[in-house]
Amino acid sequence: MNSNKSRLAPSPTGALHIGNAFAFVINWALAKQNQWELLFRMEDLDGPRKKLETIQESVDILIWLGLTWDGPVHIQSDDLSQCKHALNELIQQGDAYHCNLTRAEIEEASLAPHTKLALHDSSIRPVDISKHNASYDNAHSNWRFRSSGNSRIIQDTLSGNMKFDVIDDFVIWTKANMPSYQLAVIVDDHHQGITDVVRGKDLLQSAAWQEELYEALGWEAPRWWHLPLIVGPDGKRLAKRHGDSRISSYKTQGVTSERIIGLIANWCGITTTLEPMNLDSFLQNFTLMHLPTTNITFSQKEELWLRD
Ligand code: GLU
Repeated sequence: MNSNKSRLAPSPTGALHIGNAFAFVINWALAKQNQWELLFRMEDLDGPRKKLETIQESVDILIWLGLTWDGPVHIQSDDLSQCKHALNELIQQGDAYHCNLTRAEIEEASLAPHTKLALHDSSIRPVDISKHNASYDNAHSNWRFRSSGNSRIIQDTLSGNMKFDVIDDFVIWTKANMPSYQLAVIVDDHHQGITDVVRGKDLLQSAAWQEELYEALGWEAPRWWHLPLIVGPDGKRLAKRHGDSRISSYKTQGVTSERIIGLIANWCGITTTLEPMNLDSFLQNFTLMHLPTTNITFSQKEELWLRD
């Protein structure tokens, strides 16, 4: 094993679907092929507090698929001390200011923005941040990060160089005393020594905001690997409206994990026809060379084959 480290980081919001499985299986294969350490982090800060059973269900589904990882499951909400520490540092540096948020903005801040980013026009930023913050003594406040206002080029291993404008100030902490997704993910990745982040392309833009935080905290950003998305026939990211593509539902209906892996293998360009596959063969045959660069449609034909 070399010193590279990646992580499987599911959010236990609703059950994992075939699009999530696609990303996790590729992340696992990349880790195995490149001798990276692979951690498991349950991102339970997303949305309302999760029961332990819900968290366990997500873990069980990945085990059923045959995925393995190194060390115990890390539950994000177990320790927020590093997040608090980072927040204080940003406040002291004058990189964060307290603000009011609507209830919708507070909710948005906790979610990974798969389709949009919770942003705020930086025109609400106080002129003198340290004076503004000094006039306030309640630690349980909402905080926004003062963005650089520049554009940023994200060097993505799979998508190449992508340019994003970083002109809005985004939420990093809410008065419920919780870090936002953007802050929590970079604090955990940094403290867990994550060098390679593998996830869906719908979070590619988030990498620009996350690099702003890395820079402000003087930390090195990881290497990014943003994967094509699995979309429904309408071209939109797979969701409930496309039908029930939860892995747990397939499992209950008697679909084997070999069929799920077989479909993922076909999407990855490993096979040209649909055939069940075990994870070992997937690992031996997976290569980035055949991975499509554009989104992949989960067709009705494939859905029928799964249940065949
Ligand atoms: N927990 C996030 C999700 O499931 C992933 C966050 C990340 O990989 O940065 O969407």
